[in-house]
Amino acid sequence: MPTLNHCRDDFPILKRSVHNGAPLAFLDNAASTQRPRSVIQSMSECYENYYANVHRGIHTLSEESTERYEGSRKSVAKFINAKHDHEVIYTAGATAAINTVARSWGAQNLSSTDTVLLTIAEHHANIVPWQQLAAEIGFKIEFLPLDDFQIETEVVQEALASFQPKLFAFTAASNVLGTSVPVAQWTALAHQQGSTVLVDAAQAAPHQPLDVQAWDADFVVFSGHKVCGPTGIGVLHGKERLLEEMPPFLGGGGMINRVTTEGFKAAALPDKFEAGTPPIAEAIGLQAAVEYLNEIGLTAIEEHEKKLAKQAEHGLRQIEGVRVIGPQSGEKTGIVSFVLSHAHAHDVAHSLSERGIAVRAGHHCTMPLHHALGLTATTRASFYLYNTTEEAETLVQSVADIQRKFAPTGRRRRRRR
Ligand code: PMP
Repeated sequence: MPTLNHCRDDFPILKRSVHNGAPLAFLDNAASTQRPRSVIQSMSECYENYYANVHRGIHTLSEESTERYEGSRKSVAKFINAKHDHEVIYTAGATAAINTVARSWGAQNLSSTDTVLLTIAEHHANIVPWQQLAAEIGFKIEFLPLDDFQIETEVVQEALASFQPKLFAFTAASNVLGTSVPVAQWTALAHQQGSTVLVDAAQAAPHQPLDVQAWDADFVVFSGHKVCGPTGIGVLHGKERLLEEMPPFLGGGGMINRVTTEGFKAAALPDKFEAGTPPIAEAIGLQAAVEYLNEIGLTAIEEHEKKLAKQAEHGLRQIEGVRVIGPQSGEKTGIVSFVLSHAHAHDVAHSLSERGIAVRAGHHCTMPLHHALGLTATTRASFYLYNTTEEAETLVQSVADIQRKFAPTGRRRRRRR
């Protein structure tokens, strides 16, 4: 099994120490990853050497900046194996991309008699935009339930047949359960029923080779900051035909072909969906990020983090009073969420932070999922290419210590009786 430990040197932030000089073990990658030096340098270089607004000026810097901005789109299109570069729309992130689909495709295609099918494991980013639109249009939203933290393909098939949803929108990989789903298979089933498909790839794009043509979904979204890229940029991939038919979501500069006092004609793709000054240096940083990940190899990254998550999960399951919130088997990612019998998730995260370990605690923007599981909060460790087996081991040992610290002693237990 190849180790990726050599990658650590590419990430300057990982050298710092945190609480009381403890070395940083950054296990909060599902929230946002860190950036390698090449990403940081590419953005500095943009600002230092060729930054100007894109698509507007005819001076040297604007031309250079435009060329680099469009070069970034080409790299990202290649990263996800898009058929056309102009199917890659830059948005502010996965959330903005889903909102764009809701406000553009959704407003154009959904009516009060329709159903949108989601899963109970969705991030709020793939629930709330549909709820907002449903409040205006009046369509129904149905949620696929979990069985042992997973959704069986037969359940998907049955729901598609019974609800006949106009849209099936689901996450390729849960940001809590550490599960991933057979995207191509679910998409094919949905298409057989005539449903349009949106895939939230926010937790998939950083961790596995992405092939949007193989998935065949109509829309795929992800965020730059979870693939070692900058914040403020994300991707909406849509099939050319659908994007052509959809109205622009935001109006303003850059997205028009012509404007008169009577109205406007929208620009061609991708500009139609990129109103206003886009995230220019961020696009440059995102290009550097996907090129960095390609160089390391997404398959190697996937194997590495699965190995670490498995190690952590195995260790955590051995600790009495610790419950892992996810299935024991099946397709897993680099995420392990857990609860302790006697400590709140926030106390666990706080105690881990005191030992230098960064994890996330709370509902992770999945309140319906937590509600369905009868939980209010979990602690989540999420691994990435630069994490090590030592960090996974430190996590397990630290959780064992914390569980001991918080568990009631025999004497306290007796007194309570
Ligand atoms: N979907 C999933 C599965 C996520 O994990 C996240 C981020 N936690 C999002 C969507 C939203 O991403 P962003 O905040 O970058 O828009």
